[in-house]
Amino acid sequence: MTDCIFCKIVEGKIPSRKLYEDDDMLAFHDINPVAPVHFMIIPKKHVDSLAHVGPEHVEVLGKMMAKAGALAREAGSTEGFRTIVNTGRIGRQDVYHLHIHIIGGPTPLGRMVAKES
Ligand code: AMP
Ligand code: ZN
Repeated sequence: MTDCIFCKIVEGKIPSRKLYEDDDMLAFHDINPVAPVHFMIIPKKHVDSLAHVGPEHVEVLGKMMAKAGALAREAGSTEGFRTIVNTGRIGRQDVYHLHIHIIGGPTPLGRMVAKES
């Protein structure tokens, strides 16, 4: 997709700090980390969000999830991490190219989400 910032990262048109890459997916550090470890895993092929996936995405999504633990450990989150997939307006998604946030570090994170008032 021409207008998509993460597609541009996949194509090398925008620089990123890569952790892992293969034919199907890419992992790179978040430019604005919220914890000592914060990177994203994305499919190379554009899909807007988790709300738009179908059976054709099952394989790549499985591969992305299966890679998360090893990458988190390599990045220094050895005792666990959080995965977040913000989806759509309600999920406060900013970049509309599906991505899994992997967030962690040496110490426990805060609670998952603040309670809505
Ligand atoms: P989300 O709100 O789930 O769509 O998250 C988008 C994430 O992309 C944010 O955490 C941003 O900090 C991150 N981000 C935006 N542009 C870049 C970039 N060029 N390189 C790395 N991360 C980025
Ligand atoms: Zn894209």
